[in-house]
Amino acid sequence: MSKDFIIKAAIATGFDACGIARAEALTEDAEFMQSWLAEGKHGDMEYLARNFEKRTDPRVLVPGCKSVVVVLLNYYPEQKQSDELPKIAKYAYSAVDYHTVMKTKLQALENKIIAEYGDDCVAKDYQHSFSDSAPVLEKRWAQKAGLGWLGRHSQLIHPNAGSYFFIGILMLNIDIEPSEAPFPFRCGTCTKCIDACPTGALSSEGMDARKCISYLTLESKSEIPDDLKNKLSGCIVGCDICNDVCPWNKRFAKPHQHKELSPTEEIFHWTRDDWKTVTKEQFDEVFRKSAVKRAKLDRIKKNL
Ligand code: SF4
Ligand code: SF4
Repeated sequence: MSKDFIIKAAIATGFDACGIARAEALTEDAEFMQSWLAEGKHGDMEYLARNFEKRTDPRVLVPGCKSVVVVLLNYYPEQKQSDELPKIAKYAYSAVDYHTVMKTKLQALENKIIAEYGDDCVAKDYQHSFSDSAPVLEKRWAQKAGLGWLGRHSQLIHPNAGSYFFIGILMLNIDIEPSEAPFPFRCGTCTKCIDACPTGALSSEGMDARKCISYLTLESKSEIPDDLKNKLSGCIVGCDICNDVCPWNKRFAKPHQHKELSPTEEIFHWTRDDWKTVTKEQFDEVFRKSAVKRAKLDRIKKNL
């Protein structure tokens, strides 16, 4: 079946890009992950070690899966925080959690595909659409679907738009003509992200998640190690430093036009004192639908 219908439907649904890859085992990623996990570089994120077979082969995750549709949603914001404010990563600016936005859009795309190809194109008894919520190597699928490459900071880089993207996946039980060949690596000799990472989480061997500020401020179950405590660089929820310094973002990232990703205004004016004194009730009210709420106020105050 032609990919053109699906790509046009994805763009009409409001996604910024779409590509399609053939469902197959990710053999090289499986080998890399095995040694990465064995070295303990996933830290406390034990869920990354679970569902290994499902994570590295979509046909195990979704029985009958033949094609992987990958969509991108730009989240690069028009307005940014000023440098003196406690830093929230840009993916969490939106007043509505991106998981909710992606879920709604993926369902809308699925409805269009079912209307064209019939009910049997999805495995109804299994979850088959995903965005950062299941054992799926989304960035690798985006690369295989011809949408960009995985930079040295481990993010997907789209050649015309940079790396501020949410990635959504829709697994279909029909054969769709794949998009272009997997995208080649285009970082060249650049090492700006490695050089800029304040905690040394990046190296030529990839990322050590245990040192990444995103992990330290959001995921880690342990105390932040003493040698990293003074390197959080003002970040209280996630970190954008390696994305911000990447020349592909500096040149190509353009503000998104998605109303669903309108920001929480408080992010642009809450000072360190505001964060220190905010009550749980105020926090819950301001961030009631936001991804920031996932971080929990106690933790944010500790990060502060
Ligand atoms: S998100 Fe921040 S801490 Fe993590 S690798 Fe990038 S620059 Fe380093
Ligand atoms: S900063 Fe340089 S090395 Fe890092 S992802 Fe961007 S292009 Fe690649």
